[in-house]
Parts: sequence; structure tokens; C-alpha cells
Amino acid sequence: TTPTLPNTRLWSDKAKSLSPYVPGEQPKHANLCKLNTNENPFAPSPKAIAAMRAVLDDEAVLRLYPEPESDALRQALADFHGLDIDEVFVGNGSDEVLALVFASFFLKPQPLLTPDIGYSFYPVYADTFGVELQKIPLNADFCIDINDYQAPCGGIIIANPNAPTGVLLSLADIETLARRHSDSVVVIDEAYIDYADDVAAASAVSLIRKYDNLVVTQTFSKSRALAGLRVGMAFANPSLIAALSAMKNSFNSYPLDRVAQAGAAASIADGEYFEQKRLEVIALRAALVNDLNELGFKVLPSSANFVFAAPNHHTLSAKDVFEKLREQGVIVRHWQKERISEYLRITVGTAEQNARLIQVLTQIL
Ligand code: PMP
Repeated sequence: TTPTLPNTRLWSDKAKSLSPYVPGEQPKHANLCKLNTNENPFAPSPKAIAAMRAVLDDEAVLRLYPEPESDALRQALADFHGLDIDEVFVGNGSDEVLALVFASFFLKPQPLLTPDIGYSFYPVYADTFGVELQKIPLNADFCIDINDYQAPCGGIIIANPNAPTGVLLSLADIETLARRHSDSVVVIDEAYIDYADDVAAASAVSLIRKYDNLVVTQTFSKSRALAGLRVGMAFANPSLIAALSAMKNSFNSYPLDRVAQAGAAASIADGEYFEQKRLEVIALRAALVNDLNELGFKVLPSSANFVFAAPNHHTLSAKDVFEKLREQGVIVRHWQKERISEYLRITVGTAEQNARLIQVLTQIL
């Protein structure tokens, strides 16, 4: 539901016309099975938690402002990806990074191209920053056909894997887009890329030195289980990174706080824990898809930590199933929107959470 606006007498016309992003519900009741906002069902790396504790225990350090450019964290990310520090940008969640991307690269005479079914923050940012958006329909099986992205444009933004479908676009297709639109910035939002079976083959980070117009964003919120910390990043040619930094320092000179810088860097350093949990979620996803198929769901192929699944029931709509799940304390996501209203987006939970979901679904259906 769209929030109701207060007395708008003193608001500018721009503020009055905003239709803000509506985040997934963060319920306050206990004992809910929360599978609605794609958080990691597992804890963050114990080493990340220890690093954050160390900051909190150091009064002398907390008294001081944080390192303004998050250099240690950016260096850790650069080392992880075999890049230089000036090819890495960090912000308060990838949502902030994306806002800076819109403000830095997309205010152009020609429209920004994006799939009609995609991350719902893009239209909000386009509206906020006055960027004209052209939505390109996904094809019949919810894939992106890059032949539909031929027109001259003021930029392209695509979530890969796409949200809320979970479907992956190939690296070859991304490369074609970057090459074809060399005068526009092409942004690949890889919030969920670590849940691709073969991350190295799927991630466009490997292409940023080849294409100086390519920006890849990622986040610590999903595969690194740190959504509460708010850390996101972008990888790109140093000239684009410089633009993001200049834009950030033009209206928000505050860097990541000390806890976030330390926790995120320690998470990157703990590669073993990361890989173990990443593979666990992928295995849980395969089992969940299997169980949903057995219940008659149509499930799109997912490379993310969620699945997009249609109940395919003769009498119950997806909305009915969503509401009945909710009554039983299982929360998933549903949009009353064209083409996707027959689907539910379900976050992959722990084995116990997934079992509870399947048990309640079995009862409902
Ligand atoms: N991109 C996509 C596709 C997402 O689904 C999300 C999470 N809702 C984000 C970016 C933002 O994630 P965060 O701000 O937590 O990094």
C-alpha cells in the first residue's frame, strides 16, 4: 500500500508528486516464518561479528570520525576481485549506490532502458531524479531479450539475476549490451549474483576493465547476511567511480560508519564461511524448487536466494495463497501487478523454515 501523505501545503510540487518505494514488510511479531525480503537465513560470518565488536569495545576509536573513503574496505574488495582500489566504490547499502548512479549517469535527453519487470526501486529513483524511463517487456518466459535493447538510450539498468524473477542474463548478452551502447552507462545490479551456480561465469565484474561504460553493483545484504549493516558497492572504471564519489560528497559527506567498514571488510576476509553458506542456500533452493514442483507450482529457474513461483491452482489465486500463508504466519511477497500477479516470490529459508512453508502450503492446497 502507498503511504498516505501528510498535509502537503508546504511541500514543493516535486515532493508532492513522489511515489516512494514501498519496502517489504518487517513484521514485529515473533514466531513468523519470514520469507518475504530475501534476507540470508544464516548468521553473518563470526569473524565479521568479532570485528564489529572490537570497534564497539574501542572507545578511543568510536570517538573519532570514520575513515572518509572506506579505504581498508575498498582495498579488501579490490583484492577479492583482482581490481585496484580506484575501481571500487562503497555506499550505505546498494540502494544508496544506485541512487548515486541515477544522479551521476542517467540524467540524459534519451530515456533509460530497463525491463518492465525488475527491481521496483528503479522507477522510484527515475522519478526522484527526473530521469525518463522506458520499460522494455520481458519475453513470454520472463527472460530479457537483448534484441529489444537496440534503441539509442541514456543508459541501461538491469538486475542480474533479475528481481523478482530470479532469472539470469548471460555474460555474453551483457557484453553485447555494453559494446552496443558504448556511449551510455550500462548498470548491472548484482544484488543476488553470488547465488548463481557459477559466479565467476555469471558476474560482470570481470568485464569492467574491458568496458569503461559498465557499472556493476553488489551488496553485503544477501549472500553476506549483513542487511542490517547497510553496505553496498560498485565496480567500474576509475572515471565512473570518481563521478560516484563526487556525487556522494556533494550531498552526503558521511562515509560508512566504523562498525560497517570493519564488519564488511572482515566478512570479505572470511572466504571459507562465505562459500559454505552460499552453497548451503543454493542446495536449499534446489530442494525448495523440488517441493514446490511436487505441489503443482510452476517455478522459474532461479539464480538467486528466492524463487518466483505460480501456484497453478484451479480455484485459489496466488493472492489467495499469499493471504492464507499469512494467516498461518508464513510471509512471502506478492504483487498485484500485470503479468506477475499469479506468482509469489519466496525467499529461500533454512531447512526448517522451508519445511514449515511446504507443510502450510500442503494444508492450503
Ligand atoms: N538491488 C536489488 C535487485 C534488490 O533486490 C535489493 C534489495 N531489496 C537491492 C538492490 C538493495 O539492497 P541493499 O540496499 O540492501 O544493498
